[in-house]
Amino acid sequence: MSARRILVLGATGSIGVQALEVIDATDELELVGLSARSSWETLVEQARAHGLTRIALTDTDSATLAAAAWPAGTVHAGAQGLVELVLETAPDLVLNAIVGSAGLGPTIVALGEGIDLALANKESLVVGGELVTALAEATGARILPVDSEHAALHQLIAAERAAGPGTIERLTVTASGGPFRGLGRAQLAQVTVEQALAHPTWSMGAKITIDSATLMNKGLEVIEAHHLFAVPYERIDVLVHPQSIVHAMVALCDGAVLAHLGCPDMRVPIAYALHYPQRTELAAVARLDLAAVASLTFEPPDLDAFPALRVAREAAIAGGTAPCVLNAANEVAVHAFLRGRIAFTAIAEVIEATLDELGAAPLREFDALFEADRRAREVATAAIA
Ligand code: NAD
Ligand code: MG
Repeated sequence: MSARRILVLGATGSIGVQALEVIDATDELELVGLSARSSWETLVEQARAHGLTRIALTDTDSATLAAAAWPAGTVHAGAQGLVELVLETAPDLVLNAIVGSAGLGPTIVALGEGIDLALANKESLVVGGELVTALAEATGARILPVDSEHAALHQLIAAERAAGPGTIERLTVTASGGPFRGLGRAQLAQVTVEQALAHPTWSMGAKITIDSATLMNKGLEVIEAHHLFAVPYERIDVLVHPQSIVHAMVALCDGAVLAHLGCPDMRVPIAYALHYPQRTELAAVARLDLAAVASLTFEPPDLDAFPALRVAREAAIAGGTAPCVLNAANEVAVHAFLRGRIAFTAIAEVIEATLDELGAAPLREFDALFEADRRAREVATAAIA
């Protein structure tokens, strides 16, 4: 069997680097191209190390520098460069590990071409859920979740569907609770960027680490699960589980509950998506020793202290462009927090103010999303200034 040809978008990030490790560990996967926003030196180094001839950098200045430093290679530039990279490399599967709504464009291109998509970029589904899944259905491309909870649900649901339709009552995604679990609002108003970036169980990029601290990440994941598995919002639960051993659960009509367990290591869900439907041995991943873990604990999320999860659910239920507005406002607010411009607790306030001002418009085409995203960034930026 010939190797599955993989294009990695967002290759220099936390997921991208781990994906290269998963690809390097086997002959069954072959890397055909890489992209990043501006980290051109790392990207060129990755390309050279893998004997590649093509990369893309969405930051055009960085693309110019990369092209000068790497005359043997082809460097595609800008947002259009990402499209060219997908078309020129014609991969069997695109791994989208870009952060933020910037990942939506490449998701549309890959699915539109009928190319299977391993999706770490949950924002694609948050922003354009219905349109993205409809596009995949129309072209027959598969969306394989890389997010650990959703990879877990994908496996649990596949196991259950063999029993026939209509047996699934509820889905649960677990949350570590982040570094501030147990704190109240007054304490949260004082936390620093450094404290927020110190995640207890996962090592990730800055944006998702802050999303984990606010619990917005779980709000985004509820929306992601809704679109991936076509389960209504009122049947998707969030449960805080600080050990991050149980990744997700599926409750069935006879009272049985299926759970997916494993050590917190993103290489597992990355490999699941890249090899699907095959499984591969990952010798480097720690094996779960429940006797050593000793206890698994669970608690409901504190929506008073962490209102972002409530706001996300409200935007999800409002539908239309509201989840796109939610996501864009969150990106702006998280960026401002990381720059020290707003307090931690202001993140949710900025998002809520932006949603209050813009509301939910109906959604029929992708263009409406790019416009809603742009407008929400304007309103959120004004709310911060
Ligand atoms: P990261 O910040 O470490 O890396 C992001 C990558 O995307 C980099 O290669 C960067 O160059 C590229 N990028 C950033 N902005 C871009 C833009 N505007 N256009 C094109 N490329 C751009 O992020 P990460 O932690 O690897 O997360 C990537 C995605 O995976 C996010 O959507 C995140 O929510 C999701 N995810 C991450 C983890 C994790 O463990 N890190 C777990 C689950 C889901
Ligand atoms: Mg997750």
